[in-house]
Amino acid sequence: QNTYIRKPEWLKTRLNTNKSYKSLKKLMRDNRLNTVCEEAQCPNIHECWSERQTATFMILGDTCTRGCRFCAVKTGLPNELDWGEPQRVADSVKVMGLKHVVVTSVARDDLNDGGAAVFAETVRAIRRENPTCSIEILPSDMKGDYESLHTLMDSEPDIFNHNIETVQRLTKKVRAIARYERSLELLRRVKEIAPNTPTKSSIMVGLGETKEELIEALDDLRAHNVDIVTIGQYLQPTRKHLNVERYYHPDEFEELKEIALAKGFSHCEAGPLVRSSYHADEQVNAATQN
Ligand code: SF4
Ligand code: SF4
Repeated sequence: QNTYIRKPEWLKTRLNTNKSYKSLKKLMRDNRLNTVCEEAQCPNIHECWSERQTATFMILGDTCTRGCRFCAVKTGLPNELDWGEPQRVADSVKVMGLKHVVVTSVARDDLNDGGAAVFAETVRAIRRENPTCSIEILPSDMKGDYESLHTLMDSEPDIFNHNIETVQRLTKKVRAIARYERSLELLRRVKEIAPNTPTKSSIMVGLGETKEELIEALDDLRAHNVDIVTIGQYLQPTRKHLNVERYYHPDEFEELKEIALAKGFSHCEAGPLVRSSYHADEQVNAATQN
């Protein structure tokens, strides 16, 4: 019962493959690093990479212990932890000359700390090698383990990002293992640990949610003191993944952005191609000025 609806014009982009992009791609392969930019074939890669603005590194390997139905990352039993990874990420951030870096990871439910120690070491290594680069972390929920959260926060990231991904009703269908309330609670705890660190979350639209449910999700984020929100169109990575139920028009994103800002978020990016890390460098400034 797979039904496909046609992609609207505003979502048709060409993957940019210029020289700078190719050399950065090679840098990733040589250093055995994974980026969400490449894995998700992100349509913004030219803007983000060529202008040296931002990149999103996916650490702790390329295999996830979960299998969310919207996500293209491979699922399985991950390899051994790689303690050399933090330094390689830090060195690559330097070569790329990034202004802002996002560090995310696969979920490592096989590890007691969910990978928090290597994650924190990655933040420290990046800071050591790139003192002016702002660092945003986008960890999994680490199964709600607060000791792991403290380990992460000890590395003093500039932004803490954790995505609720979808509205409450659809969480079970869309995300594996993660729970809506647990993600909100994680975000709330971060503010408790580090009141001055901006928190951020992301929602994909087009999975069958209603406008009321979206507004409820925005209210829930604000009720847990989240500062920044990004809203983007869900795109089906392969036919095995969840169908797109609806493509939102750019005007609808504009409206959602206005609603979010009226609710008190310090910054909101909303648009068809907006991804969790899109224009993230601008959000650091917006959040710290507030
Ligand atoms: Fe990478 Fe995010 Fe930019 Fe896409 S928007 S290219 S994932 S940094
Ligand atoms: Fe993808 Fe993250 Fe879900 Fe793993 S936990 S399948 S990396 S969204």
